[in-house]
Amino acid sequence: MTSSTPVLGHWAGGAPYAGGSPRTADVTNPATGRVSGRVSLADESDAAHVIAAAAAAAPGWRDTSLARRTQVLFAFRELLNSRKGELAELITAEHGKVPSDALGEIARGQEVVEFACGISHLLKGGHSPSASTGVDVHSTREPLGVVGIISPFNFPAMVPMWFFPVAIAAGNTVVLKPSEKDPSASLWLAALWQEAGLPDGVFNVLQGDKVAVDALLDHPEVKSISFVGSTPIAEYVYERASRHGKRVQALGGAKNHMVVLPDADLDLAADAAVNAGYGSAGERCMAISVLVAVEPVADELVARIADRTRTLVIGGDDAGGEGDMGPLVTREHRDKVASYVASGQEAGAKLVIDGREVAARGEADGFWLGPTLFDHVRPEMEIYTEEIFGPVLSVVRVASYDEAVALVNANPYGNGTAIFTNDGGAARRYQSEVEVGMIGVNVPIPVPVAYYSFGGWKRSLFGDTHAHGAEGVHFFTRGKVVTTRWIDPANRPEGGLELGFPRND
Ligand code: NAD
Repeated sequence: MTSSTPVLGHWAGGAPYAGGSPRTADVTNPATGRVSGRVSLADESDAAHVIAAAAAAAPGWRDTSLARRTQVLFAFRELLNSRKGELAELITAEHGKVPSDALGEIARGQEVVEFACGISHLLKGGHSPSASTGVDVHSTREPLGVVGIISPFNFPAMVPMWFFPVAIAAGNTVVLKPSEKDPSASLWLAALWQEAGLPDGVFNVLQGDKVAVDALLDHPEVKSISFVGSTPIAEYVYERASRHGKRVQALGGAKNHMVVLPDADLDLAADAAVNAGYGSAGERCMAISVLVAVEPVADELVARIADRTRTLVIGGDDAGGEGDMGPLVTREHRDKVASYVASGQEAGAKLVIDGREVAARGEADGFWLGPTLFDHVRPEMEIYTEEIFGPVLSVVRVASYDEAVALVNANPYGNGTAIFTNDGGAARRYQSEVEVGMIGVNVPIPVPVAYYSFGGWKRSLFGDTHAHGAEGVHFFTRGKVVTTRWIDPANRPEGGLELGFPRND
């Protein structure tokens, strides 16, 4: 990497914007371990420039007809669908997930675009004729203005798409602050919006780190913040932006438990545990990281999971195509996950499969760590208490259903959970008793479809509004109620002054 390597900049007012900040960060290709580019890290004046572009576009976009806004959304959806391969390549090159997984994340984001194409219906208000004599009442929902979106590294396309299709369709203008680890997807999406006919300034990208985030949290033109990332930062973002009176939804980390009851189909459960534990190298907020085995199933279940895990291909396959799992996002993150594996071993958990010994089919300097399986994990161990965010699955053995529910509910996180059973009554009870936002029954990663809302409970979400679906529309709009009186010219009421409290009659 030389100093002449082009620097990925921002996007403001419909054009690339280099900004004035001299700070940059390296972008690496996790499969090779090599630096592939650099990204600008905004200073406050860069942030002010990008936010000003969004603010300048807000009045025009807010007043653009629903018909026109919907046409742009449809055009964006068509372009995204036909060119998603390009976006998937960018994601794989900077994040490391295998191409089919990158396409999977785009597909889930595209579902939100499709949901937002129905914005005309979603924004319909109520109308009550003759609420009082000669008086009609109607309600509307209006856009907020400039909205800020701050996203994590693990879904550089899908997480921004949880928010911006709905925000834009509802008439807001957007400043997206992507993760500095994989910044290219955001710029590709910005250019795609322009091709779809979105007016300049409606979708903007601000590259950077804490400085850029703080600028969004503090700037008076930014009316709301949608954040997704780790719990400590989510909490910080929620508190700081709320102090400025902004509307905030801050989605945090997770420790998702999959409970397997003794009557479950163990092959189905073992497949699910491997898919949900190791897919995307465990770098998913809905990954299963704890398997709660209700005895006497643990021995049999662990054996079946271990058998399947040993067949996984890390890196490329024999024919040079994609394997099952890619590398971790950075060297530091890989080393941190490896240190958790050491910690679990030292704490006395049984290390059934050690991912540190992986023979990845890829370049030696890639950030590889294979799937790791621990059995006999206890809740006080660090591998249980910490969100590892890597391909490490911990099996906790419990004696009963009640013990399983108590374990899940004692955990500070509440993002997702799954129960595997053939007993409908037990599954029904679990749905009602568990303190978690998204629940799967024989479904390991229960990410809601776009017309429902995504979000966890407890320390997995700060704020009270989840992403997309009806809650997303509500978040990106605010309500107005209009009370109207028109005098019937044929039936004029008696006039007169009256200083009492307005009456309905
Ligand atoms: P992160 O918290 O490090 O970063 C998220 C965003 O915050 C990035 O844009 C980053 O630039 C910014 N940021 C980082 N440090 C900051 C600071 N000190 N001050 C202000 N801003 C800061 O998270 P990550 O490592 O990019 O992503 C992984 C985390 O995201 C995991 O904890 C995962 O569970 C979580 N996540 C949660 C969900 C969910 O829906 N709940 C979805 C995806 C990821």
